[in-house]
Amino acid sequence: MKKITPSLLIPAAVLLVAGSLQAKQPKLRTLLIDGQNNHRWQQTTPLIKATLESTGRFIVDVATSPAKGGDMSTFSPKFSDYDVVVSNYNGEPWSDATNRAFVEYVRGGGGFVSVHAANNSFPAWAEYNQMIGVGGWGGRNEKSGPYVRWRDGKFTRDTHAGRGGSHGRRHAFEVTVRDADHPITRGIPTSWTQAEDELYAELRGPAKNMRVLATAFSDKSTGGTGEHEPILMVIGFGKGRVFHTTLGHDTKSMSGVAFQVTLQRGTEWAATGQVTLPAITAAQLTKAEPAMQDPLKLSPPATVGKVDLSQRPDMHGDGWVSIFNGKNLDGWTQKNGSATYAVEDAAVVGRTAKNSPNSFMCSEKNYSDFELTFEVQVDEGLNSGVQIRSKSLPEYNNGRVHGPQVEIETGPAEAGYVYGEATGRGWLSPHQPATDAFDNDGWNRFLIRAVGPRIQTWINGRKIEDLYDPASFQEGFIGLQVHGVGDRGPFEVRWRDIRIRELK
Ligand code: ZN
Repeated sequence: MKKITPSLLIPAAVLLVAGSLQAKQPKLRTLLIDGQNNHRWQQTTPLIKATLESTGRFIVDVATSPAKGGDMSTFSPKFSDYDVVVSNYNGEPWSDATNRAFVEYVRGGGGFVSVHAANNSFPAWAEYNQMIGVGGWGGRNEKSGPYVRWRDGKFTRDTHAGRGGSHGRRHAFEVTVRDADHPITRGIPTSWTQAEDELYAELRGPAKNMRVLATAFSDKSTGGTGEHEPILMVIGFGKGRVFHTTLGHDTKSMSGVAFQVTLQRGTEWAATGQVTLPAITAAQLTKAEPAMQDPLKLSPPATVGKVDLSQRPDMHGDGWVSIFNGKNLDGWTQKNGSATYAVEDAAVVGRTAKNSPNSFMCSEKNYSDFELTFEVQVDEGLNSGVQIRSKSLPEYNNGRVHGPQVEIETGPAEAGYVYGEATGRGWLSPHQPATDAFDNDGWNRFLIRAVGPRIQTWINGRKIEDLYDPASFQEGFIGLQVHGVGDRGPFEVRWRDIRIRELK
């Protein structure tokens, strides 16, 4: 029977529904900065990234500075590409050019979030201290500005001489909302307990255009100051919005729901001026003892729009779009090696070239959350795969295509599992029990779903992988791989009926 493209069968009314789904809010582009910190940034950056991305509201890229003593002139993130910058950085000064770009970015309306020891950074950088409102250590003292404390039912600015920045022993502590009429605090309980953390005290700085949203009592019995110290703040800087959280000393404190919820809401507010994330109840953000959850185990929501993530993608549902027209490779570009790609019998045919490195035929469009389907045949002896959410960047290995790849090869083998192509991470699929789903003689129907940090695959109707990998890119192109074969071959791989359904 002749194949009919499903899009021809979709009635106009359904297309309208699909259109309104697509009108939902786009993900917020977030840049997380690390690379130097007297805290273990290598452990905490993945937790911050997972905490934000688990909401489905953010896509987080990480910019890592040179190590201490390195050449800071090479560190120049493109702040203007982002809705919000989150700092997990406490280290050496950036270059003057990078400082200028950052000031210009925030002053012009960019969002900024300072996490814990990021407020120890840059004691001599005037604009940075205006952005964070108050900071600690690094020689800060009365010349940096006042202490800001909650006393007798109101905030006071205390200009007494003294150090800036201290904390007592780590412990779980109650945080009290002092300003419940702000998008970040509206919709959460008015007091709750943070997991064991450092309770920052004696912070001082210009404290201009600053609203303290929440405080905690720094008890002398824990080595504290006996004052109600600011814990969460918002600061206006030019047209930009800054959210400052002093919480988040280590992986334990970042496993506190209080840290996570306030970071998520504060980051959305810094990026947009609003908070659309759902309200949090006292049952979730607890007071008697701290609520805990491992951010790396947070899953994206069970459904996206009308799609139930526990089910196999419905190939016959609405919203599917062909991304290969069956006639030519319009919309696709070859990257890296010299394997050849031709269109024959409505299929993309990839043929190996002797001594070529891996070759990729890449979609010109980038995709983030989606379902993807295609049929594929491959010669025995040829390794292939389909890149998803992948990138080719001049600054990374001379444009080498890299990112998650869904494996294609004859069985029994690893078809359907996920490999971190050119990322140095090897297999992303830790277990590979199903090795015989691939039909070596026929066409194989692949289904792939990527939502937030989760990647799921099916071959010929059988579930192969359900991977949670927050370290992978969550946006990028699709790429059809012909693996290098040295002087063997020639071998062929064929793809047809390549369709995608974007999930919003
Ligand atoms: Zn700390």
